[in-house]
Amino acid sequence: MKAAVLNQYDLKLERPEFVVYKDVPEPKIESLFDVIVRVGGAGVCRTDLHVIEGLWRDRVPVQLPYIMGHENAGWIEAVGAGVTGVKVGDPVICHPLLSHGETLAARRGNDMHAGGAFPGIDSNGGYAELLKTAERALIKLPRTLAPKDVAPYADAGLTAYHAVKKAAAHLLPGDCAVAIGAGGLGHIGIQVLKALCAADVIVVDRSEAALKLARECGATHTVRADGNEVDAVLALTGGAGAQAVIDFVGEGAAVANGLKMTCNAGYYYIVGYGGKVEIATMEMIVTEKTIVGNLVGTYSDLVELMALADRGLVNLTTREYRLSEANTALQDLKNGQIKGRAVLIP
Ligand code: ZN
Repeated sequence: MKAAVLNQYDLKLERPEFVVYKDVPEPKIESLFDVIVRVGGAGVCRTDLHVIEGLWRDRVPVQLPYIMGHENAGWIEAVGAGVTGVKVGDPVICHPLLSHGETLAARRGNDMHAGGAFPGIDSNGGYAELLKTAERALIKLPRTLAPKDVAPYADAGLTAYHAVKKAAAHLLPGDCAVAIGAGGLGHIGIQVLKALCAADVIVVDRSEAALKLARECGATHTVRADGNEVDAVLALTGGAGAQAVIDFVGEGAAVANGLKMTCNAGYYYIVGYGGKVEIATMEMIVTEKTIVGNLVGTYSDLVELMALADRGLVNLTTREYRLSEANTALQDLKNGQIKGRAVLIP
């Protein structure tokens, strides 16, 4: 089969070609609950750039060469002898983790802390014609949703949903939520906020095009990140800051600014990453702020997000590339030239 293969890291993301489009052996069914999915679409994620620049090297036992791609949807191609929940031809979206179902963490629904594999991060993923996954990770798609149109929900959407669901549990009508970044995750997060709660949504981004997309997604106010964004958010919140700040950027000035935009007793949710949180312990006790980490989401989070998508309450903005154009998609993402999410189509 064809795949876009990562052969070497590029610590400064300088090379024009990050991956090589080539023939590789097809994955095979090896155990009872294995499933092979014919990839209909694979989302291109900032995490893929972080993989290329080596950020995940010491976190996961990955060996190069391997195939990235952790936001996958497609059709069932082959199933192991024990698989009963899906059959060949079914359209599915793949939860990104192959968690161990017998662990306590998995039984409590915390799939991301239940061990197992993370295809596309620590093993071969979906920048390919075929992907090996497991029955436990699969959610059948309703007829309204085509695999290539929903693939980025498998991680970008799921991660945004996971964080926003936590925030929405605290947000009351009249409260304010800030979304920092209206890119691949942010534009989904804004729609999920609008669907799950009645708080006003302020969106902060450097790009005017991203802010336009944010308004289309239902943002109440948009703020250009031009150096004065903290003052602008404070002005929109009566000087107090927002009850929830969801930071889809997580690096550069966004982190310190996000904490400053959070009101006393409010919540700052970290979704994007790469930067550092630095706050004095005295500041923490005086302000009673809560800082919350977020990693992907649970299987049931993804089921709920598909229910929102099926009802038309969340819509993805995607830009399609052929799998052979993976380098172009990655470069466009790196250069901030993608509105919404890039999707590779084999
Ligand atoms: Zn991702």
